[in-house]
Amino acid sequence: MDNINLQRIEGYTVQLVAEDVWAIDEFGADIIYLVKGEKSAAVIDTGSGFGNLKKVIETLTDLPYVVLNTHGHLDHVGGNHEFGKAYLSEKDFKMADTEKLRSGWKHYVEKTKKEPGFYGTEYIIEGREPGDFQMLPLSEHQIFDLGGRSLEVLFTPGHTPGSVVFLDRKNKFLFAGDSVVSTPILIFDTYSSTVKEYAEGLKKLDKEDFELIFPGHFLRPIGKAILHDLITCADKIVEGTAKPEPIDFSHMSSEPAFLFKYGKGNIAYNDKHIC
Ligand SMILES: [Zn+2]
Repeated sequence: MDNINLQRIEGYTVQLVAEDVWAIDEFGADIIYLVKGEKSAAVIDTGSGFGNLKKVIETLTDLPYVVLNTHGHLDHVGGNHEFGKAYLSEKDFKMADTEKLRSGWKHYVEKTKKEPGFYGTEYIIEGREPGDFQMLPLSEHQIFDLGGRSLEVLFTPGHTPGSVVFLDRKNKFLFAGDSVVSTPILIFDTYSSTVKEYAEGLKKLDKEDFELIFPGHFLRPIGKAILHDLITCADKIVEGTAKPEPIDFSHMSSEPAFLFKYGKGNIAYNDKHIC
């Protein structure tokens, strides 16, 4: 995506990436989306909760809106408390629990500040930490009708057991969180599911009609073709024919990780998370 339609709101880099779809870059750490229909809107993920996300959303729309989470990781649910409630897969409720999020918060903030590309240190609200929010469960094929466009929930476990994607059938867009990103798909952490389950979810997705994938981090959008590479990549890992290389993700997890690449698909995993 080039640098057109860019604006800065509360320090966040906000870009209109399609008609009535804004990508809200949380200072280089993650990407939040605002999807607007005729009657209501949806906020997809809330980032880490570093800044005034609610103000950003309410600058961009006057419509009522729902908050939807692609999964329960801190960098996707950390801002939920600003909104009071959010939809999330029940399987990720535990990992999005306030106590759990708070326990990792200080370390996460210090680590994120040192990441190359992070520009938000001055925008992190003093004393901010994850707070309580009401967790509303998502079900497979649940539809959020925004008026003139809708978002359908599809379960894609792998990165976490409760990972989901949101499909905008009319516009052929998929909002994928960390289930499809241009960097390695991470399936090695204590709370990850398995590469096998991930492959099954991708095969189900591949049957759906969409063209563009809006991921939870980095480059966006991504063409649907990456699914084929990711499916082959995952299948080879499950069959045992993948030849992975060790990769250092010690800044993210104490679990070891191995990287296998196939075409544009990259999966970081370990033996505990294959089947
Ligand atoms: Zn994640």
